Amino acid sequence: MNSARPTQSPKPGSHRAYNLGRVVAAVRRRGSVTRADLERMTELSRATVAALVAQLIDDGTLRELPADEGARTGTGPGRPPARLALTESAGIVVGLAFSHDDLRTAAATLSGDVLAEQSVQLAVDNSAGVALDAAAAEFNSILRKISHGERDVHSVVLGLPAPLDRHTGRVVINNILPGWVDLDPAAELEARIHRPVTQENAVNLGALGEMTYGGGTGMRDLVFVKVSTGVGAGLIFDGRLYRGASGYAGELGHIQVQSNGLLCRCGSRGCLETLVSAPHLIAALQPMHADLLTIADVIRLVEAGDSGAGRVVSDAGRTVGRSLADMCNVLNPEAVIVGGELSVASSALTDGIREAIARYAQPSVARAVTVSTGKLESRAELLGAIALAIHSDRLRHPS
Ligand SMILES: [Zn+2]
Repeated sequence: MNSARPTQSPKPGSHRAYNLGRVVAAVRRRGSVTRADLERMTELSRATVAALVAQLIDDGTLRELPADEGARTGTGPGRPPARLALTESAGIVVGLAFSHDDLRTAAATLSGDVLAEQSVQLAVDNSAGVALDAAAAEFNSILRKISHGERDVHSVVLGLPAPLDRHTGRVVINNILPGWVDLDPAAELEARIHRPVTQENAVNLGALGEMTYGGGTGMRDLVFVKVSTGVGAGLIFDGRLYRGASGYAGELGHIQVQSNGLLCRCGSRGCLETLVSAPHLIAALQPMHADLLTIADVIRLVEAGDSGAGRVVSDAGRTVGRSLADMCNVLNPEAVIVGGELSVASSALTDGIREAIARYAQPSVARAVTVSTGKLESRAELLGAIALAIHSDRLRHPS
């Protein structure tokens, strides 16, 4: 691969190397830019930017996007100015996203163009060592697929389906990923792949993924909600992920909705999750079915138009929407984006959420928010890992 590394620290006095690094950093920050953007962002002259860009195109670090890719922001008459993006020669990032039963892996350029994607089925919850070995194997396998070495990888983001303590990076809720308690997954993976790894709660990655690649493109304030084994929300304020003081922001599933309700796995009683999570939906439908149901069966029933399954899922949507309405009153987001496999199966879940927000949020808050199903389906977390990896070089633990 190209050995020029303009993003590395230049030698003292090397203004050209320093300015090349600034141009690369500016393109990386925005994904794609025009030469005029670069002039503004770097405060360098038009002639200097033109010369630096020419050198970076020449050595294969930058490419001009084809007109149809680059025309998005073109305004006014005439041909829009050419947009520039980083190629894989400038380096790559890798995203790895665990769910409870699979691992997805993607590699992308520093401008966010996805080069390859793959997935494997895996029992993740109880065997952290096996799961992390699999993550290392998938990391190496995707690099082989795109003919890159590990030294080309600038950063890696690992998504886990559990809240992570913001200060220690550890999984601390022992009944969500029991085999991972007190492990530092990023450090464990770094020891296996020898590249910097940042870890992040998967639902937060879902929010970043939809904001960067999906239904929230161009938005600054959004809530991504996922109803699955648990119920969680990823919060984006002013274009940035909001994690809270200790990393638990968005734990929607543990809002108490019934003071004398069922005992929750978190130890509280009557949490939202005890009413609407996958195990509850299965339990609600089981009496009507002779065979033991799984969540995949529930999804199949919903897709097939089974009225009982449709009702259970739309009721779940209304129950989640009731709590989301309160959250919207506090946060005033422009969008609520619904993810997770149940939202993909039919519009029942999203419709239920939309109905409850319209009914229970303040009218001006309800008018400001659009409620939609995510566009990325099961890829939201993985593409969020790519989005975070592009901007996470220096973040060992997110801050
Ligand atoms: Zn709970």
